Amino acid sequence: MKNIIFLGAPGSGKGTHSNMLISDFGYTQISTGDLLREITKEDTELGRKVKNIMASGELVSDEIMLELIENKLQMVEGKPFILDGFPRNLTQAKVLDSLLTKKNIDYQAIYLDVEESTCRKRITGRLTCKCGKPYNIYTEDLRPIVEGICDVCGSTLIKREDDNVASFNKRYQVFIDNTLPILAYYEEQNKLVKIDANQTDTKSRDDIHKEITEAIND
Ligand code: AMP
Repeated sequence: MKNIIFLGAPGSGKGTHSNMLISDFGYTQISTGDLLREITKEDTELGRKVKNIMASGELVSDEIMLELIENKLQMVEGKPFILDGFPRNLTQAKVLDSLLTKKNIDYQAIYLDVEESTCRKRITGRLTCKCGKPYNIYTEDLRPIVEGICDVCGSTLIKREDDNVASFNKRYQVFIDNTLPILAYYEEQNKLVKIDANQTDTKSRDDIHKEITEAIND
């Protein structure tokens, strides 16, 4: 099973497809967004700094990110992993390559291509529960029965601080400016598979999952 680097706009389904791969194949997910959200819970200068940057939709500095990813990669050594949210720019991609090359670790970069309007709806309507069940107020079969309350465990649903329209717009622009150029970098190295990850009447989430599975089994 190949290690995976997931690339895609906010709301393209990187988290969802990571979860499907974890449940099918036992991957370890490294989500830099989740790692950073843990840091924001700390009452430290770093915690407050990261919280402000994340709320604005800008990128956290490469210096912080590279230390974080190096430590995390050491912790998961030997296990197949999915990188979700890293790299976000060319500098990160290049440093990641040199780290992985040193460790003799290969990977498949997978780009989940999804229309901006779909990403926007997914992000601005997204709610989650601490039990893990995902919701979306704009999607009929993902709406909670009682507004703001989890159908499964009755807890109050949580909205991420950066899942608002202004922050989405910023995050999307950051994606276009900083992350999209990575595609050419991986393409030149023959490391990239692009997947049309728009769900349509004829293409379900399971179909997309199947395409991803084929890409990592090649
Ligand atoms: P995510 O959960 O992947 O949507 O990330 C949420 C936020 O965390 C982003 O908008 C950035 O502020 C920050 N972040 C996550 N990953 C990175 C990264 N690789 N480089 C810089 N900032 C990041």
